[in-house]
Amino acid sequence: MSFAALGLSEELLKAISTQGYTTPTPVQKQAIPHILAGKDVLAGAQTGTGKTAGFTLPLLQRLMEGHDPHQKPRRIRALVLVPTRELAAQVFESIKTYGAHLPLTTEMIIGGASINMQIRQLQRGCDIVVATTGRLCDHMHERHINLNSVEMLVLDEADRMLDMGFLPDIKRICGNLPKQRQTLLFSATYSSQIKALAAQLLTNPIAVEVAKPNITSENVSELVYGIAKENKRALLSYLIGSNNWQQVLVFVRTKHGADRLEKQLTMDGIRSAALHGDKTQGARTKALDFFKNGKVSVLVATDIAARGLDIDALPHVVNYDLPQVPEDYIHRIGRTGRAGSSGAAISLVSPEESHLLFEIEKLLKRHLPQVADTGYEVVSLKVADMPKKVVVKEGAKKDLRHTKPSDKKGYVARNQAPNARPKTQGSRSRSR
Ligand code: AMP
Repeated sequence: MSFAALGLSEELLKAISTQGYTTPTPVQKQAIPHILAGKDVLAGAQTGTGKTAGFTLPLLQRLMEGHDPHQKPRRIRALVLVPTRELAAQVFESIKTYGAHLPLTTEMIIGGASINMQIRQLQRGCDIVVATTGRLCDHMHERHINLNSVEMLVLDEADRMLDMGFLPDIKRICGNLPKQRQTLLFSATYSSQIKALAAQLLTNPIAVEVAKPNITSENVSELVYGIAKENKRALLSYLIGSNNWQQVLVFVRTKHGADRLEKQLTMDGIRSAALHGDKTQGARTKALDFFKNGKVSVLVATDIAARGLDIDALPHVVNYDLPQVPEDYIHRIGRTGRAGSSGAAISLVSPEESHLLFEIEKLLKRHLPQVADTGYEVVSLKVADMPKKVVVKEGAKKDLRHTKPSDKKGYVARNQAPNARPKTQGSRSRSR
């Protein structure tokens, strides 16, 4: 099926072809015709499935249908709510890209950016607003924004917005929108909370499901390294250094942990940057740009900061800490293996995190392959009632082009602490 067969306009087809897309992705195939027909849509689509174009393309076309070029100032006719600033920036860029040949205007309303500038932008008027909920509520509260003309509302990554506690903001915002509107809700997972939100906001929605919820991408090979907490950093440096990984997204649990690991990796001679919520918007953008253009090989990020990052063909994701919420495992590893490319997701799991691994495997309904010999002292990841795990031998490791530390004679990670050194062929001792 071609994009033209979906009923998209010439201007949009031109922009799509500039992007080099030839075939719509499954979510685009399923959602676009319904959105063009004016239906509410509830879409279960993970990041990386092409969901952004899936709602942006028909949204632009619908807005063009009722477009009045003489309307001054422009009225906000479409509102896209997203959980993070980074995702807002990506959606904003997508709207600009796909709408390159259309006269529609878009503004981005996010925290961390100048509020006065945003007030001026809102006074000037625009057709579309992409917003994070907190800053939008601030503008609503101060009456800087008029949402009376909104015809289309999109909630992107709605599950994450709920995880981040934005439900009250979402409700407040929706209370300010016309009841008569088209609503699209995109979510990677379907919790009971999401179902309740959908029931509240959508009218007779068409359900679109492209990847079964709670299933990770087939293009991602996953491996678990059972490793003592204190050896994680050396193993990570080793894996990056010995495999010459050039682009690795590393997830940690806390902001402090992100800063600490970034410093440690830098000491190990690995160019790194940290991305977390305590950084200014400027610092976050800079870290992301450095990572995207290869100035740093490693981006150490917390879940919230990394949500929605779209980096083309990101080959490696590392869970340095396992997430507290099992669904985050799916979001994290969704950063790799996007749009058909393959990727590797590696989890460094300490015995203290065994229960988190158990929860993740329960959610996925499968076991994650474990590396039998990590080159470090063997640790047990058993949870009392956990069924036996799959143990992966050499084959799977070769898939990841990984060489275990003990295969590398005499290897010592740069500047690593002596007590965190991978054992070499000559040192078989298990004692620390
Ligand atoms: P998303 O799920 O919206 O984050 O999109 C993931 C990636 O897929 C983005 O880098 C898009 O540029 C890309 N993409 C979107 N639609 C298509 C398509 N039909 N063909 C190829 N790539 C696409």
